[in-house]
Amino acid sequence: MMVSSGIGMTSQRTRDRLVRRLADGGISDPRVLDAIASVPRHLFVDEALATRAYEDTALPIGRGQTISQPFVVALMTQALLTRGPLEKVLEVGTGSGYQAAVLSHVANQVFTIERIDELSRQARRRFRQSGLRNIRAKQGDGYQGWPQNAPYDGIMVTAAAGEVPEPLFEQLADGGILVAPVGPQNSVQRLLQYTRRGDRFEREDLGGVAFVPLLPGMDKPRSHSW
Ligand code: SAH
Repeated sequence: MMVSSGIGMTSQRTRDRLVRRLADGGISDPRVLDAIASVPRHLFVDEALATRAYEDTALPIGRGQTISQPFVVALMTQALLTRGPLEKVLEVGTGSGYQAAVLSHVANQVFTIERIDELSRQARRRFRQSGLRNIRAKQGDGYQGWPQNAPYDGIMVTAAAGEVPEPLFEQLADGGILVAPVGPQNSVQRLLQYTRRGDRFEREDLGGVAFVPLLPGMDKPRSHSW
């Protein structure tokens, strides 16, 4: 679809058009489609990019990071919901906060961790301004998960690693689902869905995806040089 003018490009009608496109692409869970229809994605990107917010593409959010493509957000959210309603969900890689905002419509409580303080703060501001009170966000290292609130019945990793960090498996409730992009960085990864059955994890491949890398440790404050 070509967009020639910014007028009305952040309206509910534009958002509904994105929802129809996701439905046509195979997203069938009405809870997911409703959540996408409810979250104003343009509030989670820079104002200069607002008119592109309802295209089905990833967009830059600063610090070399990206807000995920809506189709992938929908697919991962749908995957977490396959076993039923969600009580507690953990997201690794808050980024813009958009995915967490979508999750907040389908889960009772959302916990989200981001290694870059600046992005974490900005996301928290957006959650406050949007009145999303069931999200708790902090700066932290996603490799460690967030053990204080475990177990989670859904865990979503939105940055790619060669393998899923072990602590995340440990923090998944029995019967819970974890989705994560796994594979080489800066190339195509596989979106994997794991379902915990006691000490076993059933694995399913949901297709090819491209995510920014999961990086070790927390980001240090940026030093200035001039
Ligand atoms: N879910 C986000 C998109 C995330 S992009 C959204 O909806 O906008 C991936 C994010 O993961 C980046 O912001 C990156 O800084 C973060 N990240 C990378 N490694 C991490 C780690 N070890 N712990 C926490 N966050 C991490």
